[in-house]
Amino acid sequence: MLKGTFSTVSRGDGISSKIEKDLEKFLLMKGLGRDELSPNYVFVIGGDGTVLSAFRKYIEVINDVKFLSIHTGHLGFYTDYQAKDYENIFEDILTKEPKLESYPLLEVQAYCTNGNLLSKSCALNEITLNNTKGKTYKSEIYIDDRHFENFRGDGICISTPTGSTAYNKALGGAVINPNIEVFQAAEIAGLNNMLYRSLGNSIVLSKKEKLTIKPMDQEENHRLSIDQLFYSYDSLSKVEVSICKDKRINFIRYNEVSFWDRVKRSFIGE
Ligand code: NAP
Repeated sequence: MLKGTFSTVSRGDGISSKIEKDLEKFLLMKGLGRDELSPNYVFVIGGDGTVLSAFRKYIEVINDVKFLSIHTGHLGFYTDYQAKDYENIFEDILTKEPKLESYPLLEVQAYCTNGNLLSKSCALNEITLNNTKGKTYKSEIYIDDRHFENFRGDGICISTPTGSTAYNKALGGAVINPNIEVFQAAEIAGLNNMLYRSLGNSIVLSKKEKLTIKPMDQEENHRLSIDQLFYSYDSLSKVEVSICKDKRINFIRYNEVSFWDRVKRSFIGE
């Protein structure tokens, strides 16, 4: 039986709100306390997008929080229960010991042209870099400070293994088992000519490596997206991305659904 404190994050639609109310009533009745700021457990009711919002809400205490998600959205890569069988959660909480899973996050640091750190943040799905005005994005790409390629195209998307089924997949990147501690960079419509020659394929980097993107011939109009957030910068000299060393996201799971079954169910069909 779970002990401690909890909070809930709901997508706010009819079914999600009903499940949220039922769950809250049950947990309070079983002696768990509500804590909005630093709970032991966060119950997320919605889709993977709702998990992204819950992650952002608890980013400051992320190592201390465990998420459990009930899926009322379309896909459910981060989720444990489907809306149709959510009532099983009451029995499971009382009688089962949940399995703990933790996944890597990305750390992103953006620097101004004067060398100052503009922002330091973590991503659960991915970060993307492109031009706010819709122009092509020109950049030099470095791996561990060694020049790798010059890219020109719509932008670059760098994803976690759990984010590999999101934007990355739409870009033709590989779907990666989240138990593998790597990150992936995928091109968004690379131009690929004699001046800007890039690999074309997505690349998978180890947890020890660092990817650096240095914008070329472009002073302003940079857009850095971190999951659901967007930042616009007029002065950007480089963006460094690596696996976050001191933060991970933790989930508790009562159901044994293999990652590849989720991929099959979501993209291929039963
Ligand atoms: P959002 O509602 O948070 O997410 C957009 C869609 O992506 C939803 O259908 C969501 O599923 C799904 N999704 C989120 N994380 C996923 C994951 N790890 N694996 C599989 N699907 C996932 O909307 P948003 O604020 O516009 O954007 C946030 C996310 O959208 C980004 O992190 C990015 O991955 C994704 N995105 C995708 C594309 C693309 O595929 N062309 C383009 C831009 C952004 P639920 O319905 O279950 O919530």
